[in-house]
Amino acid sequence: VIEISTLFIGGEHLPAHSRASIGHHEAATSKPLGTAPQADALDVDAAVAAAKSAFPDWSHTDPAVRAAILHRFADELTARGADTSTLVSRENGMPITLSRSANVVVPTTLYRYYADLARSRSEEEVRPSVKGNTLVRREPMGVVAAIAPWNYPQALTAFKVAPALAAGNTVVLKPSPETALDAFVLAEAAIAAGLPPGVLNIVSGGRETGEYLVSHPDVAKVSFTGSTPVGRAIGEACGRLIRPVSLELGGKSAGIVLDDADVDVVASTIYRTSFLNNGQTCYMSSRVLVPDSRYDEVVEAISATVRAFRVGDPLDESTHIGPLVSEAHRDRVLGYVNAAQSSGARVVAGGGVPNGLNEGSFVEPTVFADVENDAAIAREEVFGPVISVTRYGSVDDAVRIANDSEYGLAGTVWSKDEDRAVDVARRVETGSVGINGYFLDLEAPFGGVKASGVGRELGPEALDEYTRTKSVYRFRLDATKAPA
Ligand code: NAD
Repeated sequence: VIEISTLFIGGEHLPAHSRASIGHHEAATSKPLGTAPQADALDVDAAVAAAKSAFPDWSHTDPAVRAAILHRFADELTARGADTSTLVSRENGMPITLSRSANVVVPTTLYRYYADLARSRSEEEVRPSVKGNTLVRREPMGVVAAIAPWNYPQALTAFKVAPALAAGNTVVLKPSPETALDAFVLAEAAIAAGLPPGVLNIVSGGRETGEYLVSHPDVAKVSFTGSTPVGRAIGEACGRLIRPVSLELGGKSAGIVLDDADVDVVASTIYRTSFLNNGQTCYMSSRVLVPDSRYDEVVEAISATVRAFRVGDPLDESTHIGPLVSEAHRDRVLGYVNAAQSSGARVVAGGGVPNGLNEGSFVEPTVFADVENDAAIAREEVFGPVISVTRYGSVDDAVRIANDSEYGLAGTVWSKDEDRAVDVARRVETGSVGINGYFLDLEAPFGGVKASGVGRELGPEALDEYTRTKSVYRFRLDATKAPA
């Protein structure tokens, strides 16, 4: 059992003021895995104060020096990568092969990418004006509150922390209570890399800790990834405070199979587009739209592939689908599966708990066919290895069904004709679309529309989320003397 007894505040390991802790369970067995401290308001106050007092120096540190420190930080995370990826797989059930990439390769790439981008990008630009010129400056904002979910803890933390720190802000990170154990590897790496005290602070805790942090008077910017209901509450709090906020929220994306799609490509990419991380991925194309003319063939190909997924121990290299993060989450997912079955959706793969895997929180990879787009299984985020297949007639129909959703995060279009697929992608109301597969491009902006959020992460666009502009109007002396 892993016992983490201290928060990370001002470069020091400090016990939580209340001495309370949060229990963690191993996803594959439901047995105790460890504990992390539960930060309360006094701890958050201390963390924000540390970040605030570190801000003046860090924001004025030469970007090249900040970049060198962030590269060392990435080196230290890489050195701890094997332990981190194993730990996250035990916490949330992520298959280990994915965990190595999502919890080590992606975050370290991002710390390096933003370090280099901030070093090479000029933060000042001169624009000619009628009476002289204007200096447009990009300035860091101050203390960033970063709140992360449990599904990709290290990657989604880096989505925020890397651009925030590279741009010269300081950070208070609140990891998710399901995956607080792995967050403290960032503290070890920060110390080893020589990140100045207070630049990164970590306060583990649940909803109350997050709520208090979001509204703290000394926080300049909030960046949140998580569910839409919580995002709404955070957006409301930030609205009252007139506080900038980025929200990366839930999704119910559509994968559109066009009538000329290569069925083998659909079958071989469905794992990545719709089942990655046991379906606990925000951008999953969990609604698959299939044309009448190819319906039976495509449903059969997808379900044959899904039935062949290997379900089991997330630490086994050959596992495709591991357990869900917790028993409570498994029960929620099974609730959707049972409700869909009783409302008449046709199960063509899975549909329950896998044989012999009653311990831990496993759910069989499941495909429902003949689902109407108004069914709960097609409208609500299930966040498990469960997809629904819906039939469509024309391409216009497919686009209408895809857009008939509260959410707008991502999507997929399958077609042999890339131009035709891109035309459909242009009409889909989401923040990103994959053609014949889905794979994040770390150098392109990612985020949602509608209830999937506001703001963008990744790419150069993310640096703008952690800077604000200031215009300095410089007048020629002779121009200031003119009457008008
Ligand atoms: P969650 O919303 O339950 O929790 C996310 C974080 O917010 C946790 O750290 C939690 O402790 C904290 N929190 C809860 N209530 C809070 C409050 N009132 N104020 C401040 N903080 C609060 O989400 P989760 O279950 O951890 O993650 C799964 C969800 O995240 C899914 O809906 C998924 O789609 C979404 N997600 C979105 C993206 C994206 O980029 N759009 C990426 C990954 C996950």
